[in-house]
Amino acid sequence: MSAARTQHVLIVGWDGVRDDVLRSVRTPHLDALAAEGFLATVRVHDANPTISGPVWSTMATGVYRDRHGVHDNDFRRNAFDRHPDVLRRVRAARPGATTFAAGSWAPLVEEVSGGPLFHGGGYRPPIPAGVENTDDLDLIAAMDDAVTSRVARELLAHDHTAVFVYELLPDMVGHTEGVTDRYRAAIEGCDEQLGVLRAAIDARPMRGDEDWTVIVLTDHGHRDAGHHGGDSDEERLAWIAAAGPGIRPGAQPTVDHADVLPHVLSALGLPADDDLPGHPFSS
Ligand SMILES: [Zn+2]
Repeated sequence: MSAARTQHVLIVGWDGVRDDVLRSVRTPHLDALAAEGFLATVRVHDANPTISGPVWSTMATGVYRDRHGVHDNDFRRNAFDRHPDVLRRVRAARPGATTFAAGSWAPLVEEVSGGPLFHGGGYRPPIPAGVENTDDLDLIAAMDDAVTSRVARELLAHDHTAVFVYELLPDMVGHTEGVTDRYRAAIEGCDEQLGVLRAAIDARPMRGDEDWTVIVLTDHGHRDAGHHGGDSDEERLAWIAAAGPGIRPGAQPTVDHADVLPHVLSALGLPADDDLPGHPFSS
């Protein structure tokens, strides 16, 4: 008799990584994940604008902006109490379960601009004293590194059921200088961080008795000259990659940001409500 395998989920968000650019850069860790499952282009649903706040809110709550109430990067009119984020739902459905969220963009994890998106907040690296330009790309890169390190430690030292980690740098480079070599390098840096996170999972003492669903995704693209929010393919075309139980290697599912929450609940054996627009990836 062997004990039942425990189920865990890691969700990794890379902000503003355009689909066609992703596929033109070196991402060995994402490629490995895609080989275990899939990497699918996602057209940001017409119910949402190509703006971070609404799309990450859809990823986290499973509903579009008409229901979650986040229409741009101002979260103050959110309806997260009616549409709780996926980590909160996991904790509510499974007493004793713990989750962890971390990211460099404040409204996701801090009481800023009507946030946090993730109830109870999470880890965001502190801005060093004396820094005046909080959009400085080297600062953002260092913050993303700190986020990755912290989450890797969490993955090693705790038995979280579900973890969300978010990297901001690609979007900030896109806004600062457009789709440039530095933008491409930022995406490759995110991939290296994915490698760190997956290595931490594989180093867990009970790894042999655990199943991990890993989901990596972006929220929107960027125009060549930078910026997003419009309806061009460069802005609308995002992507989701995932692997784990219930996902067949080589699958080519049609997926949407609203599918992330139903898939996570399904992977953990938890019920989803009937009126969610999305579905688990495998169906
Ligand atoms: Zn974004």
